[in-house]
Amino acid sequence: MIDPILPTYNRVDLVFERGEGAWLFTRDGERYLDFTAGIAVNVLGHAHPHLVAALTEQAGKIWHLSNIFRIEGGERLAQRLVAATFADTMFFTNSGAEALECAIKMARKYHFANGAPERNRIIAFNGAFHGRTLATISAAGNAKYLEGFGPAMPGFDHVPFGDLDAVKAAIGPETAGILIEPVQGEGGVRSASWAFLRELRGLCDEHGLLLMLDEVQCGVGRTGKLFAHEWAGITPDIMAVAKGIGGGFPVGACLATEEAAKGMTLGTHGSTYGGNPLAMSVANAVLDVVTAEGFLEQVQATAARLRQRLAELKDRHPAVIAEIRGEGLLLGLRTLVPNGDLIAAMRAEAMLAPAASDNVVRLLPPLNIGQAEIDAAFEKLDAACTRIEAQLRQDGVKGAAA
Ligand SMILES: *Cc1c(COP(=O)(O)O)cnc(C)c1O
Repeated sequence: MIDPILPTYNRVDLVFERGEGAWLFTRDGERYLDFTAGIAVNVLGHAHPHLVAALTEQAGKIWHLSNIFRIEGGERLAQRLVAATFADTMFFTNSGAEALECAIKMARKYHFANGAPERNRIIAFNGAFHGRTLATISAAGNAKYLEGFGPAMPGFDHVPFGDLDAVKAAIGPETAGILIEPVQGEGGVRSASWAFLRELRGLCDEHGLLLMLDEVQCGVGRTGKLFAHEWAGITPDIMAVAKGIGGGFPVGACLATEEAAKGMTLGTHGSTYGGNPLAMSVANAVLDVVTAEGFLEQVQATAARLRQRLAELKDRHPAVIAEIRGEGLLLGLRTLVPNGDLIAAMRAEAMLAPAASDNVVRLLPPLNIGQAEIDAAFEKLDAACTRIEAQLRQDGVKGAAA
């Protein structure tokens, strides 16, 4: 009999009752170190007092209004993000995929508004993840996610991640823009070099294309800058944001320059919930903390300390860990055993982390973890790797006996 919840997820059989910072507690009071953080969502951990206060205060006033009306929290959030980024304007959504949908529509509409409606193709990268709507699975082009869902949406050309010559070769008279994650999350915590991003910026300028960044996972402080592209010293024309911006409340946004947004005129796009007062109150509260003096410097320092411990871990367990990847607190351990084995061993040590492609275990802690969490992570990872080594030795003995 089918589960009352559509069985599309492979869920861990744990029930968490409450969270506090980087820790999750089960009903039986067991404590887990949460380096999943809702997959890079809970940037300030669980039950952050400032976020709880913002949400509960707003809950007592107005939950929902509709975009028929002005929403003060949204106006404030938009002004703050305009001040903090390249963007002149933005559209609020409830998810990352919707932010990408807006980005894709905007890029096509831009060229339409310029009298070039044939320019509607977007160059995207192998290994990308942009969401699970029909347009975003088509944008990413991952066969596993497209299979069985009928024809992919046309208009996407896929090239290898980081391959500038392939990008150049893919640019044609119908190209509208280039869409890239500065750091691929699901794809295995793979970083495009900052030089590559600068090259893409140059190509877009040269050919009149829109540079579209998917910073749904790598944005909002995750790499130690508010947005990852800042490391490259470039700005995009359009950027999709979600995950961290809501700190656990569903919020997304499609940010754009005035020029890129020029086709998105009255009535061209909309969302019932996008920018809803509850969401805006939480996103403003997240921004209060993430943009506070010294916060991002702290993330960079934390990332450096964690990375150093991970290097030590790799040295201690060369049969388990092949490589440490990533930027800031978007980190990946490429493993020599199946990544699921390390994740299971970590869970046995009461530590939670998600997988990624390329046999990678992602480490996505809240951005505000302290030394205690770094130490706990090292100890749990060390113990998990030791478990795996014991298993490998046992398998070796069995193998020799057989
Ligand atoms: C999670 C993710 C998305 C999709 O976001 P949803 O909120 O699940 O729709 C898109 N792009 C990237 C890079 C992501 O990590």
